[in-house]
Amino acid sequence: RSLSARIAGLLSAFPDHPEPGIVFRDLAGVYAEPGLLAELADAVAGHFGGVDRILAVEARGFLLGAAVSARTGLPLTLVRKPGKLPGPVHRVEYALEYGTDQLEVQKGAIAPGERVLCVDDVLATGGTLAAAAALVAACGARTAGMAVLVALAGLGGSERLSRHPLLVLHDVP
Ligand code: 5GP
Repeated sequence: RSLSARIAGLLSAFPDHPEPGIVFRDLAGVYAEPGLLAELADAVAGHFGGVDRILAVEARGFLLGAAVSARTGLPLTLVRKPGKLPGPVHRVEYALEYGTDQLEVQKGAIAPGERVLCVDDVLATGGTLAAAAALVAACGARTAGMAVLVALAGLGGSERLSRHPLLVLHDVP
């Protein structure tokens, strides 16, 4: 079976989480499947060439990011919510459905000119990965690609990220 079909069989949907009207896609079953995360990481690693660094977005993006880094030997950098990272940081603010949020990366964590692969678990509106790419740019580096385990259709995410090569391992219609 394809990786996409295996993810589909392990996903569960929780209506009205974390708020009314949102259908939350839970990947707990994907992570609980022995060996699958390593296979998913290999699929991501095999899709992109010429990458210098993996950038993973807090919190669930850390899982795929760590797996890709471990399978490839590429350095891993963590993008975090405000106030978590010590020392000087680059910060970007991005829009949520209601209000704004911020993400940070440590200054000097990404060298100018590096080609960075940004990863997360789920793509919805694309605001989070667009913010990650903005942090890469703030470091003077380039986003070589983006990868997610699951993309939710109809929220404009892939359109919003259309200027970057994007790998989606499973599309939820
Ligand atoms: P976006 O910024 O693309 O709208 O939302 C993506 C971010 O929100 C990701 O970091 C992801 O972890 C989280 N997210 C949004 N919707 C879902 C969902 O249905 N399931 C999970 N697991 N995460 C979600």
